[in-house]
Amino acid sequence: MGIRRVTSGMRPTGSMHLGNLHGALDNWVRLQNDYDCFFFIVDWHALTTPGGGDAVGYENVGRLRENVVEMAIDWVAAGLDPGKCAIFIQSHVKEVAELHLLFSMITPLGWLERNPTYKEMVLGYKIEHPSYGLLGYPTLQAADILAYKGEFVPVGKDQEAHVNMTRDLAQRFNSLFGRDVFPITEVLLTEIPKVPGIDAADKKMSKSSGNYIALAHDEAATAERVRIMFTDPVKIRKNDKGHPDGCVVYAFHGFYNKAEQPLVRGECEAGLRGCVDCKKRLAERMNEALRPIRERRRDLAAHPGRIRDILIDGAGKARDAARATLDEVRDAMNLPPKDGI
Ligand code: SF4
Repeated sequence: MGIRRVTSGMRPTGSMHLGNLHGALDNWVRLQNDYDCFFFIVDWHALTTPGGGDAVGYENVGRLRENVVEMAIDWVAAGLDPGKCAIFIQSHVKEVAELHLLFSMITPLGWLERNPTYKEMVLGYKIEHPSYGLLGYPTLQAADILAYKGEFVPVGKDQEAHVNMTRDLAQRFNSLFGRDVFPITEVLLTEIPKVPGIDAADKKMSKSSGNYIALAHDEAATAERVRIMFTDPVKIRKNDKGHPDGCVVYAFHGFYNKAEQPLVRGECEAGLRGCVDCKKRLAERMNEALRPIRERRRDLAAHPGRIRDILIDGAGKARDAARATLDEVRDAMNLPPKDGI
């Protein structure tokens, strides 16, 4: 068996934060060494919700292109290597739209209406008039994966169900048309570290909450965000005994200062460490660790042609794979071939 294919996409939310870096990108960077990876920015998916404020959506497309470029820069700066994986924009592969249309013919409406993510999005984004595109989101997601015959999708434990509709559609297509055109995609379960927001240890870092540190932040901005991080509220003075569990600064020492984390705990609990010094040390370690990524990101931002070429090359590779799949799909469905009748 050849090298197995992994597919995964991200909505273009613009420049990425440390939650995205440790929650997804670090894993992708590892996967590109062992799998044939297709990573794409899902600009069509961004249009399934209205958007508003900083969030792109069909009522708020002003930053869509910029967000796509920012995200691609961050991916490459964080270590995705276009020599090892295909990096591209969803809408650059029109075959995905064709497959989505064909899948929509065989997707039972009940599957979509019962989809819990649809209900969560309608409630979460307070969408009064959900669009056809939002309801059909899982069908487009299936097309994104299956156009490239994605065998694996890397997900965290809580997202396992997201791939179910893709598996169901692959099975339904193969059985309706009597051919095993599609693989039955499996999840590649990943231990996804929970990166807290700077405002509370039990909140996730997210763009929409504003509690993030971006890869695009400079060292001074990072230090400032560390300075306002939530700590143990009962530890006021250096010699007060602290409780590191529940302190965001302590959690980040785990990401950026692993070797010293036991020392941080010991000194905090014994009242031998002040929060101001603790934060200064963390900011130093974070800035050291993020410096190479930030240097690469500055360099890429200064040479936009490089990112454009990476995205064009990636789309070319993706299109070749998708075209081959669509030829099989059309044949299985007895549609006239594209070059005649
Ligand atoms: S000393 Fe460090 S670990 Fe302890 S509460 Fe303050 S910031 Fe948190």
